[in-house]
Amino acid sequence: MKKYFYAIPFALALCLSLLGCSNKPAKQETAAGRHPIETSKPAAAGFPETSPSLPPGQDIDTPQEDNPQNNAALIKPPKKAPQTTKITISAAGDCTFGSDQSSPASVNFYSVYNKKKNDAYFFQNVKKYFEKDDLTLVNLEGTLTKNGTRMDKTYAFRGDPSYVNILKKGSIEAVSFANNHCKDYGEISYTDTIHTLKKAGIKYASYEKTSIYRTKKKKIGMVAVNGLSGTDYSKKLINSGIKKLKKKKADLIIVSMHAGIEHTSSLNDTQTQLAHYAVQKGADLVLGHHPHTLQGIEKYKGAYIVYSLANFCFGGNTNPSDKDTMIFQQTFTFKGNKLQKNTSARIIPCRVSSTTAINNYQPTPLKGAGRRNIIQKMNSFSKPLGVHFQRDGKIQN
Ligand SMILES: [Zn+2]
Repeated sequence: MKKYFYAIPFALALCLSLLGCSNKPAKQETAAGRHPIETSKPAAAGFPETSPSLPPGQDIDTPQEDNPQNNAALIKPPKKAPQTTKITISAAGDCTFGSDQSSPASVNFYSVYNKKKNDAYFFQNVKKYFEKDDLTLVNLEGTLTKNGTRMDKTYAFRGDPSYVNILKKGSIEAVSFANNHCKDYGEISYTDTIHTLKKAGIKYASYEKTSIYRTKKKKIGMVAVNGLSGTDYSKKLINSGIKKLKKKKADLIIVSMHAGIEHTSSLNDTQTQLAHYAVQKGADLVLGHHPHTLQGIEKYKGAYIVYSLANFCFGGNTNPSDKDTMIFQQTFTFKGNKLQKNTSARIIPCRVSSTTAINNYQPTPLKGAGRRNIIQKMNSFSKPLGVHFQRDGKIQN
């Protein structure tokens, strides 16, 4: 009974509350039940929380760096890989278009020139190499002029200014003109030759005068010194010349040096001093001449030094006992503006004449034993300098 006494008012209260609730439609009831959940949504994820918390005075743009969406707009398009440019330089030795007055008139340079009547004759056997490269550089050892008085010396060379076409026909774009024969007929012979080269569009480097040859959007700078007129003086010219070329933003720097002792494979101090100095100052390649015979090649601080390129198209001797010569060829690689360390170089063994009997002033690439002999010889000269040639004439890296 005690149980029921308490149960009656509880049942009444329950009944009353059920009656009150039954006045609301069932849908509303359900909606009313979800309401607290719906209102909590905007609070959890609706407005950006950063917005109201921006410190006063802070620009809305400032937080962009932290916003990945804004970062996407700032990312630059991927950079193009730098363009690869290859520059191949060919170099050869002494070119003397003319002969000394003491030379036999029947076989000297003038007689061959007059017989052939063809500027293309002289380099016709090597042109295939020169026309495929980007720059061919030789040493012009003699003057091209009708003027002047012969200097009092054992050998003096002067050729007709029209001989400059031999260079043009041979696909030779540049010469070094700083040697013991560039003033053989006095100062006028020097200035006349320069005038002739300029008129023909042949680039030349000569003592203080540096030169830049432009190809494939690259600037190849050239310096030429005559070591015979003093080591210190030549160093000065190398230093100022390289500085000048660097200022002009040369991509490659070639230093030509006329130095050494004639008819020997041994190097003298001037040669090594000048060559090393040039590389230290920034030369990418050093080309030597004057000894009239081949000498070794050195790799010094990454740059090749070709100590002597010997004679090439050389009117100075109608029949030299040593007719061995070569073309030195090096390919430089650029990635964009940056010169790469990897480089390839080779020698192309040649004879100064197409015949062994006499000098016909027509340098000719060699085959067979003649070719092998020169590679062997260059190996013996270059071994102490750290350079080795493969059988194909390429320098082993
Ligand atoms: Zn010389």
